[in-house]
Amino acid sequence: VTFWCEAAVIDGQLHEGVRIGVGPGGRISAVDADETPDPADVRLGLVVPGMANAHSHAFHRVLRGRTHADGGDFWRWRDTMYEVASGLTPESYLELATAVFAEMLTAGWTSVGEFHYVHHRPGGAAYEPAHAMELALARAATTVGIRLTLLDTLYLRGGRGVPLLPEQERFGDGSAEIWLDRWHDLRGVLAAEFGDAVVLGAAVHSVRAVDRTALATVAASLPARIPLHVHLSEQPRENVEALAEHGVTPTGLLAATGLLSERLSVVHATHLTADDVRLLGEAGTTAVFCPTTEADLGDGIGPARELADAGSQIALGSDQNAVVDPFLEARGLEAGERLASGRRGCFSPDELWRALGPSGQRSLGQDPAALHVGDACDLVELDPSSVRLAGADPRQAPFAATASDVRRVVVGGRVVAHSGLLLDGPDGRRAVPAAALLQTALHSTSLDHTSRSETRA
Ligand SMILES: [Zn+2]
Repeated sequence: VTFWCEAAVIDGQLHEGVRIGVGPGGRISAVDADETPDPADVRLGLVVPGMANAHSHAFHRVLRGRTHADGGDFWRWRDTMYEVASGLTPESYLELATAVFAEMLTAGWTSVGEFHYVHHRPGGAAYEPAHAMELALARAATTVGIRLTLLDTLYLRGGRGVPLLPEQERFGDGSAEIWLDRWHDLRGVLAAEFGDAVVLGAAVHSVRAVDRTALATVAASLPARIPLHVHLSEQPRENVEALAEHGVTPTGLLAATGLLSERLSVVHATHLTADDVRLLGEAGTTAVFCPTTEADLGDGIGPARELADAGSQIALGSDQNAVVDPFLEARGLEAGERLASGRRGCFSPDELWRALGPSGQRSLGQDPAALHVGDACDLVELDPSSVRLAGADPRQAPFAATASDVRRVVVGGRVVAHSGLLLDGPDGRRAVPAAALLQTALHSTSLDHTSRSETRA
């Protein structure tokens, strides 16, 4: 296959007449600019690199547009989220994740890191056969055609000296050692069914949910180079509790237990000290910001620019999936910096493209998709004549576009989506609207459960 693009944004620069050759494994075999189209080319319009959603909880999507009437804070929102988690089954999770991943793919996210902790039955008993929830996520992603890094999450306690709350029991494995055993077994099961179509990564939920000894066990025992994620200092309370329990900040605890390294991604990184920023930067971690979620939950504005200056990579995620739009996350990152600093241009458009693409792909242990030879051939076609993009410099599209401007999406050299439609089947002729999948999933799964909890409250 060869694609010919009227224009393409590569490394933040605009090139015209770009022909992209696709070789084995869906990788880019050639990139040439100033070319004229051949009859055999698949012709695309304005193309930007495939984008990576480095932090998602697919099931939180159920709460979109349903949590805004009664005020509250992060912790109250969490109680509502637990209500949804308690109602999930492997069947409803498959349906819901398929719909959410379809929305992501049609929005231009060609990869997703699913931070997954709903492992077991309510009460904590294992599914039989094993890994039912994990397989539901992997099947959802491969059905849709989005690249998945499954970040299988260690979750052990409700807090310092507090066992798992009843609504958290299905998240827990009991110990880091038992979780590691399950993780290794899952790795074999996923490899057998999905080959390298699904990357298995890992996560520790947070220093709230994982004690010091278990953090050290993960640092020592999780195989090298496996991508590892952690929620970090999203709320001031986490810092207060860590200082009381350990005498150090959450970042300090990650450092003391040997977890700070290039394979670590810290999610949110909202409430950091200057020392925290230095430690995270020097270790070459990735900081994953989720600006639409952080704003929605009233988390605060994290020191993204300081982290980047200290040496961290910056990636982006949709987190609770109340908003599924890569451009709005990029815009939100820069908007937060501007609101906090009183200055414009804190992150350049080029830096935002990197946050949307290569930094996210690196965070997820996936190949880059930056339109270079050897990269994954993941492409997103935008409509440059849309009401939002007309007249805009394509290099600055993160400041003007929304997911509504995404036309065709290419993953591994194959067109998988077009204007909100999921192209189902190799001929791409049977098209399923992502919106219809969502309506079906929300109607038939967890919404009833949430409605009951709202009535009770
Ligand atoms: Zn999260």
